[in-house]
Amino acid sequence: MSRAFPLSRTTGPVSEEERRTILAAPGFGKFFTDHMASATWTPAKGWHDHKVTALAPYSLHPSAAVLHYAQEIFEGLKAYRHADGSVWLFRPEFNARRFARSAERLALPVLPEEDFLTSVEELVRADEAWVPSSPDEKSLYLRPFMFASEAFLGVRPAEQIAYSVIASPAGPYFAGGVTGITLWVSSNYTRAGRGGTGAAKCGGNYASSLAAQIESRKNGCDQVLFLDDTGGEGDLEESGTMNLCLVTSAGELVTPALGNILDGVTRDSILSLAGEFGLTPVERPITLSELRSGAADGTVTEVFAAGTAAVVTPIVGFKGESKGEGYAFTIGTGTPGKQTLAIREHMLDIQYGRAEDVHGWMRRV
Ligand code: PMP
Repeated sequence: MSRAFPLSRTTGPVSEEERRTILAAPGFGKFFTDHMASATWTPAKGWHDHKVTALAPYSLHPSAAVLHYAQEIFEGLKAYRHADGSVWLFRPEFNARRFARSAERLALPVLPEEDFLTSVEELVRADEAWVPSSPDEKSLYLRPFMFASEAFLGVRPAEQIAYSVIASPAGPYFAGGVTGITLWVSSNYTRAGRGGTGAAKCGGNYASSLAAQIESRKNGCDQVLFLDDTGGEGDLEESGTMNLCLVTSAGELVTPALGNILDGVTRDSILSLAGEFGLTPVERPITLSELRSGAADGTVTEVFAAGTAAVVTPIVGFKGESKGEGYAFTIGTGTPGKQTLAIREHMLDIQYGRAEDVHGWMRRV
């Protein structure tokens, strides 16, 4: 049985005029809607106090476990407005399942998947006016998260947990047209090791990725590409917040196998759609040397990254360092690939209701 998240409407919403101004140019993650969904967990009561209320700061004791030991997980998904005004989520069941798996890895209580879905849907209903209506790739980004709020400095799974969902309008990722990016192949930092938290969506993974991101910027790259933990010339894993996909001259769409990487909903969806683009989906380890030689001899024709924020980001080049020597190589002609752009358009058409949803991925709010 799914639990209700009853709504107490805020008495101080953002004015309609201000909301319109924000929705005209929302950027990403800067502005927030009027409400938040939440629930609390304790061992004695289980999940309780489900509600949608005014967006408000937390009051946390300075010893709250999350602030010290990072017992925390989160999710990211979007609500899209279709041309007829209706509002839809893209495969939220996938996020609900992944949230449950992340909770298990971080020794957090599992929120029932139906309750995850209800909380997200009730928040979107309460803040429906915040779902942008323009057709130019705007959306309402939803951020469910859960953290150890118990005031206790002992290292053990916390016995008071807060769950919330907040929402933030998001502008088009590529406002000035889809451009390709260059990835810095990180040989100083890895993101995850065997038995680590690479497959979980926990804050610690992102905290530890920031030094690598700084290194990538210093080297003139847009984002970092992490390799596995076997020491520098290892298998490709993923980018900072995106999964990696290669298109080959043999008509394959190749992506690193799951294990230490995030099981991305965009990755999973693109694997299902590959056939429609004449590509065979393949999940397997890919070494850096295979990527380098494939780029050089033309067997790797396109590379892109996949994730909820940008959908599909063309990757046109790589830079890195090996044995103290810098290297750089481009993919194809160094411009976004044709298949990459076609897959991107098709994903957006499904999400914005312009293509038939043959896979049953869209869920109406
Ligand atoms: N990898 C990482 C590390 C991420 O943070 C994300 C974004 N959630 C992805 C991949 C892509 O996942 P999704 O397609 O579910 O957004």
